[in-house]
Parts: sequence; structure tokens; C-alpha cells
Amino acid sequence: MRDLRHPRTPIGFAQAQGAGGLRVELILGQVLHFAADPFAEGPAAALVETRGGVLVDGTRIAAIGPAAALRAAHPAARVTDMGSALLSAGFVDAHAHYPQTGIIASWGKRLIDWLNSYTFPEEMRFGDPAHAAAVAARYLDLVLAHGTTTVASFCTSHPESVDALFAAAEARGMRIAAGKTCMDRNAPPGLCDTAERAHDESAALIARWHGRGRLVYAITPRFAPTSTPEQLDALGTLWADHPTCLMQTHLSEQTEELDWVRALYPEARDYLDVYERAGLLGPGALFGHCIHLTGRERMRLREAGAALIHCPTSNAFIGSGLFDMAGLIAEGQRVGLATDTGGGSSFSMLRTMAAAYEIGQLRGRALHPAELWWLATAGGARAMGMAERIGNLAPGMEADLIALDLASTPAIAQRSARAGTFWEAVFPTIMMGDDRAIAGVWVNGQRQRPAEAPRG
Ligand SMILES: [Zn+2]
Repeated sequence: MRDLRHPRTPIGFAQAQGAGGLRVELILGQVLHFAADPFAEGPAAALVETRGGVLVDGTRIAAIGPAAALRAAHPAARVTDMGSALLSAGFVDAHAHYPQTGIIASWGKRLIDWLNSYTFPEEMRFGDPAHAAAVAARYLDLVLAHGTTTVASFCTSHPESVDALFAAAEARGMRIAAGKTCMDRNAPPGLCDTAERAHDESAALIARWHGRGRLVYAITPRFAPTSTPEQLDALGTLWADHPTCLMQTHLSEQTEELDWVRALYPEARDYLDVYERAGLLGPGALFGHCIHLTGRERMRLREAGAALIHCPTSNAFIGSGLFDMAGLIAEGQRVGLATDTGGGSSFSMLRTMAAAYEIGQLRGRALHPAELWWLATAGGARAMGMAERIGNLAPGMEADLIALDLASTPAIAQRSARAGTFWEAVFPTIMMGDDRAIAGVWVNGQRQRPAEAPRG
């Protein structure tokens, strides 16, 4: 016991031991962590401890370092040896729609038709708490199986859909952000609220869930075309009253959408200005897509410290356009990475990194695997205002981490076997990997067991 890093808690430790499980776990593998942002500092900002370990004490990371040194310093810790698996912070998916789990990979159509044909009919079902609870559980089990430990998700306009997701996240110990999706026009009547109801129902959900355990509320207008100016104003007021909440919405995804916003808001200088006038621009704002931005919009996003959330599988799937990663990073924007489930075509942040790489290539900038990994972990955490807690492996951080098998399929194994460098060994998993690569997931210090097969 005297060797424990936290001698203040030997009693708790002994009790946990007596109860049949040690509170302190030493997980061994190849440890990947970031000393800085690799977009700013280069790939060397990513550090690798080839035979390393992560010491987890309760819900926190207590230490990282060489395996041998950690074993010697903490002989009482329970050891979980993941062999040559890569140990990383859990993935952070900074924009998703959990209610669209059941309609992912629906064929065809542009954004507006896709919403009307697939999304809105499915979202109508979430007024039923039993349906919402079933999909919320299935969704979180799917993302955990893919190594994602934090999401920022839209719900539907039904408060029941928000209760279902937060309850499911709380049961799994997950740090997530979510909110009621507000719409009061250009959507089916069954999904529309009003400016007042959007405000009041969101306020009640904030009171119920925001800051409870690891849960964060995100004020969530779907996007400018499905809200009246009155509704956006009401949500801006709500955000001013609750500034520690996040705000998530969509911005500048498709060209038809830009024309629609222009027609609906003729007084606005541009799309972003619709939100800005309503008080919905600031630090803690997460704007999904951000493809067709004007110079003024880019300047204001940067000045405000808002986050731009890149959703590459969705942008390719719905044919929205090519995100300007290099240009936006160079001008100092905060960028996160996301699946945009189910407009995006995968739950996997590995597949999402691959799509970001492909879109980068189409725009003439090959993203380094260290940059991709940073976007999928620390970058997303920074975008969500959680960089001090999650998204990296470091002492004091919350213990959300994953172990990845870098030879999870024969195709990947035969390529990684020829790798001459660490990143050469990782890149085939980024490009070809999926949930089969996820060898272990820890949420808030607890190892997750694979969920049973999803039930209808
Ligand atoms: Zn979206």
C-alpha cells in the first residue's frame, strides 16, 4: 500500500480490494498521447510509449509511462496486459443524431429530401419513451463498441428523447452532451414546438440534466430553416441564462440550404449572422459542417472561439461538399470531427478519420495520421470545452480510454506487419479499421463488457 500514488485513500483502496476488485488498474500496451496540437507543433506532438502503461485510480488516470517503471512503482495495482495493442484516449464524436440510428445508410437524395423522407418520419417515433430508451441504449452500445466514449448528440423535439439518452449515458458512466432539437417551422406538425415551448422544455431539461454527473446539456436548434427568428431568439436568451451549456446546430452544409436560409432570413448578412443575431454565436457553440462559408463567417467564427465540426462521411454520403480543413486550421479555427450519424454512414471514428483523410486529399492536403487521431480525440474534446477532462491520456484526466488491435483483420495485419514506423503501423487501421479493431474500452475507469446483440 505504501507504494500507491495516492496515500490519502488507502482505506478506500483496501475496501475495494476486500469487495473483490482493485480500484487501481494498470493497463499495459503502446501508449499514445499528445503533448500539444500536432497541427500547430507537427506530428512530434504525438508521443508514443512503445511498452507503456496507463495507471487508472478509480475514475481518473493517475500516471502514464514505461510499463516496467509503473509496475515497479505500483506493485499492488491489478494489471491488464493488452500486449501490443494501442492505448489511446476514447474517441470523441462531436456531432451525431442518435435518433437516426435506425435509418443510417438510407439510399439517395439531397439533404432536404433526406430529412423529409427518412429523418422526420423516424424522429416522430421518439415521443414514445420506450422506443426512445431502446434506441438510446442501442446507440450508446454501438458507439462504445466502436471506441467512442463521448458524443455530442442531437435528440428529437420530444423531451422524452433527451431523458432517454441522458439516462442511458448515466447508466454507462459516459460523458456526453445532448439536447432537445428545436423546430417550429418547415417540419411535420408532430415534430414542431413553438418558440416558447422550445425555451421552456429546454430549460426544464437543463434543470434536470445539465451538470449531473458527467452530463452536459447542449441547447439545440436543428438549423436556421426549421426555426423562426422568434425561436432562435428564445434559445439565445436561454443560452445567456445558462452560459455553461453548449449550443449545437448546423451551418452551411449544402448550397440549396444556403439559398433557403437567404430566402427565409433576408435581413441577415449571411447564414452565420442568423445565429449571431439571436445570441447563438460564442465559445461553446458547435457548428456542424461549415462547408460553404464566406470570409466574414470565417472571421466571426474565429473571433467568437466557436467550434467547426467536420462530418466527412456525411458530406460525401449526402454530396454536400469538401470541408477546407487546411485553410480553416491555418486561420486558427477550432475544429472537431464527427460521424453525423445517420447522415454519416458509419458509427466508427476510424472510418470518419479515413473520410477526413480522403476529403483532405481531394483538397490537396494529406492529413498526417497524428493530426487525424488528434481530431478524433483531443480536438473533439477541445471543441466541446472538455479538453481538461477527456480526449488525452494524462495524469488527472478522466479515465476514458480504448485499446486498439493494429492487426484486427487479415488485410490490416499483412500491411501493418511491414510497417517501419509507428504511424505506418497505425495508418492501415485508420483507413481500413472498424469495431473489430477495438480490443478494450474503459469509461470513467470501468472496463466495458461487450453488449449483447441489439434487440429489436
Ligand atoms: Zn447533423
